Amino acid sequence: MMDVHRNSRTHNYEINISVDEWKEILCLPEIQHDNNILSALEKWYLAPDYTASCKSLGERYGQSPNFFSVQNRRLGQFAVKHLKRFRLIGSNDKETYWGIAWIELRREKGIYIVQLRPELVDAIKELGLFAFETSDAVQQYLQNDLSQEKRFEFLHEKFAKPPLSERTTKSYLRDPIAAKRSLCHAGFKCEFDASHDTFPRMIDGLPYMETHHLVPLKYADRFVISIDVPENIVCLCSTCHNWIHYGQNNMEIIERLWSLRKNDLYQVGIGIDLSELLGFYQI
Ligand SMILES: [Zn+2]
Ligand SMILES: [Zn+2]
Repeated sequence: MMDVHRNSRTHNYEINISVDEWKEILCLPEIQHDNNILSALEKWYLAPDYTASCKSLGERYGQSPNFFSVQNRRLGQFAVKHLKRFRLIGSNDKETYWGIAWIELRREKGIYIVQLRPELVDAIKELGLFAFETSDAVQQYLQNDLSQEKRFEFLHEKFAKPPLSERTTKSYLRDPIAAKRSLCHAGFKCEFDASHDTFPRMIDGLPYMETHHLVPLKYADRFVISIDVPENIVCLCSTCHNWIHYGQNNMEIIERLWSLRKNDLYQVGIGIDLSELLGFYQI
């Protein structure tokens, strides 16, 4: 049944999104690839007591206050679409997405002071979405302190498989830290060809790159341990990433990436030969 909540003047709706549901939402590929939502959420998360207004964040980070309200609305839209169990109808009788990611605490001179929902905060913590370890790594990268032996080297740690997401058809939750670590490892350069061009990310000015699981996650069942690990995640420019999924002759890129990573994959227990890997891509 779809719950319909109408016109709460304070934007505080009893929608009861659980920590696990927030974790699923945050792991949706649409959100993991959306630097605007993640950037706004991270800044809200870093605010004292997870409480801020769009205006105060805008001033602090030199961005338009509108950016923060738009990203919060978009996060709310993803939540409604994914959960399919409630709708919020605002005072103008139209669907609203305010008050999903946060609760309104008070209004000061017409400005909404809002706090991230505690379940969302717990989900962010449990996923380590904005973990300091990763921020440090990115920070180090920004300062060009590229001590390859240390932080950016693969750790070759074996991880147990994450639980299967029950709600949707079989899928594994993705580890955003593993993905970020693999981007740092590659120095934010395309691993097929480091000279490939890209543009600076809005969130932090780092080169925009995408992550790709060399052994696709849908074959996770064939392995005893998790394949959502940095050793299996490659950093690619948008063009190469699309090539691997949709292009002709993609064997060339898969072969190159496999030879770069085969030893690292073997070390974490994802030993795979080239013909088997090509088979996963139906080549
Ligand atoms: Zn991919
Ligand atoms: Zn490329």
